[in-house]
Amino acid sequence: MASVLEIIPLGGIGEFGMNCMALRYGDEMIILDAGMGFPEETAYGVDVSIPNFEFLEPFRQDITAIILTHGHEDHLGALPYVLKRFNVPVYCSHFTAGLAESKLDEHDILGDVLLHRVEPRDVVELGSFTIEFIRVSHSLVDCFSLAIKTPVGTIIHTGDYKVDETPVIGEPIDLRSFRRYGQDGVLALLSDSTNATVPGRTPSERAVIPAFEEIFAEAKGRIIVAAFASSIHRLQIVLDVAQQFGRRVCVLGRSMQKNVEVADRLGYLDIPDGLLVSLNQAKLMSDDEIVFLVTGSQGESRAALSQMASQSYKGLTIDEGDTVVLSARIIPGNERLISRMIGFIYKRGANIIEEKRRLIHVSGHASQEDIRILTEAVRPKFVVPIHGEYRMLFRHKEFVKNHLGYAEENIILIENGDVLELDGERAAVIDKREVGRTFIDESGFEEISSELVRERKQLAYEGTITLAVTIRNQSGELVGDPRLVARGVRGLISNGVHVASVGESDTNGDDLTKEALQVVLSALTGASRQTLEDDSLLKEHLRVELKRFIYKQTGSKPVIMPMIIRV
Ligand SMILES: [Zn+2]
Repeated sequence: MASVLEIIPLGGIGEFGMNCMALRYGDEMIILDAGMGFPEETAYGVDVSIPNFEFLEPFRQDITAIILTHGHEDHLGALPYVLKRFNVPVYCSHFTAGLAESKLDEHDILGDVLLHRVEPRDVVELGSFTIEFIRVSHSLVDCFSLAIKTPVGTIIHTGDYKVDETPVIGEPIDLRSFRRYGQDGVLALLSDSTNATVPGRTPSERAVIPAFEEIFAEAKGRIIVAAFASSIHRLQIVLDVAQQFGRRVCVLGRSMQKNVEVADRLGYLDIPDGLLVSLNQAKLMSDDEIVFLVTGSQGESRAALSQMASQSYKGLTIDEGDTVVLSARIIPGNERLISRMIGFIYKRGANIIEEKRRLIHVSGHASQEDIRILTEAVRPKFVVPIHGEYRMLFRHKEFVKNHLGYAEENIILIENGDVLELDGERAAVIDKREVGRTFIDESGFEEISSELVRERKQLAYEGTITLAVTIRNQSGELVGDPRLVARGVRGLISNGVHVASVGESDTNGDDLTKEALQVVLSALTGASRQTLEDDSLLKEHLRVELKRFIYKQTGSKPVIMPMIIRV
């Protein structure tokens, strides 16, 4: 058998989120990350998406482990779903394991899963793959890059990273280990592209401290800081500055409370005794003694900040004199929600501080000069941009080509479902497969088929027609008039709901509806004996005839639901 390694991304390439890829050598496969994706605003009741793990079924016997680089939802969120299909051991850091545990517990599978906690520089042997975990800096804590030795050469997967020499929590990025691999020779570097369009260096997590100190010094009233619940360095800074200015901290919002609890329990956050107070205690304190650390920086309507701004959150409302700090970036797609929320906050007379006015947020991802540092440390034969929309992958490629002297053929742009084959000398995409995605309804942790989402979309855009036909069981003869109810169908109705039957006067039915009912009548007359006797055949027959007529007349394709009543 030829000695080749296959790299197959299931998500995260050409899109934001849903990071997941498979590495295959012979009859062995490992999975790197299992992330969620976040569909756009109009997703028809779909909360999140996950990679289509059905895609991995042919390799069921080959999968030996799942390795997680870090605990962000776009790298970890799909873990319960992949484990429900393939229950293999998971390797990750202590903090990632802490977040994974609470997720697996929610899905009631914690007891069935083998979670291995690893330290930086730990080496795990999994058949033909030998994996070393290398410390990297990011907005979250306890994050890894992976150095994966394979029989064809070493692959380095950066995970999410930036080059931060002075993180707030934990060790700085371990460039020495990257250089060690670089000296021994690296076949391919799979590298984070999220900020590949941004020139310069990404600032250290510490860079936001002065702005926070100024804001705390100036604020006379309450301070409300909204941040990503996973930005653990940032949370520590808020706790530290609060302590420094004699304020107590009240943590609000489910994900924020959960992350603070996990990070505190595992020793990542340093929280002085008595600093944290409950909501009830906070309500009794004077305005200049308290900081609220809350969720909702993206304007999410159900999160704490939005509710405090628009109505109230557990009896708490934003008021005149409050200072609201939005210590997060705007995730593309959330602009309108955030803008609306900022409007509410201004209406309440509070002061609001955004990222563009003060340095209160730094990115967790490598900018171009960070990419330069890491790529020069590793000096791989091939660079494969990962994590990001196509624009970012492309700019990553351009940067590596124009500024790091890489030849075009040594930078490989791949897409989800591509099979990238490496034999130690060459790298080529040898196959392109349709990988797709699975939608999830988070309220029930249920998978929603893409057909269901398509149907919801059709309902939203095209409306519905319900058709009720009563026929006599024996003879198949029509009893009374068919009845038709349309909702939201363009051209067919004028006022939202329309009920009509053939015999009714013009005031109750428009001409088109009457014609539609005539179509139903002639479809019934023209139906064969066999069709008339079989409900499903008859329904399909009526549906097709009605669909054809409605499309021809109005150009719309509503969901048509015929009902047959037999008497
Ligand atoms: Zn991340």
